Amino acid sequence: MRKKLVAGNWKMNLDWNEAMTLMAEVAKAMEGIDNGPDVALFPPFPYLRHFHEFLKDKGSAVEVGAQDCSAHKSGAYTGEISASMIKSLGAKYCIIGHSERRQYHRESSDVLASKVILALENGLTPIFCVGETLQEREDENQTFVIDQQMDGALFELSPEDFSKLIIAYEPVWAIGTGMTATSEQAQDMHEFIRALVQGKYGKAVADQCSILYGGSIKPDNAAKIFSQPDVDGGLIGGASLKVADFMEIVRAT
Ligand code: PEP
Repeated sequence: MRKKLVAGNWKMNLDWNEAMTLMAEVAKAMEGIDNGPDVALFPPFPYLRHFHEFLKDKGSAVEVGAQDCSAHKSGAYTGEISASMIKSLGAKYCIIGHSERRQYHRESSDVLASKVILALENGLTPIFCVGETLQEREDENQTFVIDQQMDGALFELSPEDFSKLIIAYEPVWAIGTGMTATSEQAQDMHEFIRALVQGKYGKAVADQCSILYGGSIKPDNAAKIFSQPDVDGGLIGGASLKVADFMEIVRAT
């Protein structure tokens, strides 16, 4: 049985007090949930350690993750934060290749491949994001683009390492736009991604690979998308900033 995960990507939002309040509210709301999906919060870097300690003190099942990591191990890289630092702060997961990183920081497949390797070497679970732009979908190139993104950054990994990561399919045109993929579009792409994994690593690895959907998931569309057989949960942006919405999405998973 594949793991289901709901991951809240807070991006560069919320000051310290707002973040503490929201995190504590999510932890409290999670106390009432039995047999739900795994849940993780991805706050800005400076909050990671405190979140981890607070959640462990409360005995909460909520985990924390980072929104990115450096492609370098250590050294003279001003402003960068390494995978080993993130691990030492208590994070379990690390998002890699989010479309905002690809777009605004021009992160190439080679850079992303290095990040994935460093995250894995440091015991973090990478959540590797792939997704096509609106133009690429209109040109019916979405499968080609996803194939390239997967092949360019992941397919040099050993089957053992690949088995440790999670994929997130996030069509760029659906992120923060309110335009969600239909459940059929999501299922088609998730099925395609699983077939790619199967082609490279075999059925056993493909069957256990969790593939999240991300892109304008809200309480009113979550259940339909999450009910698709190849959708194993979601990466949630905007809706993760409101406890009621986020918890409705968790309950729908
Ligand atoms: C995201 O940024 O990963 C995301 C899915 O954002 P939103 O839910 O706001 O579209």
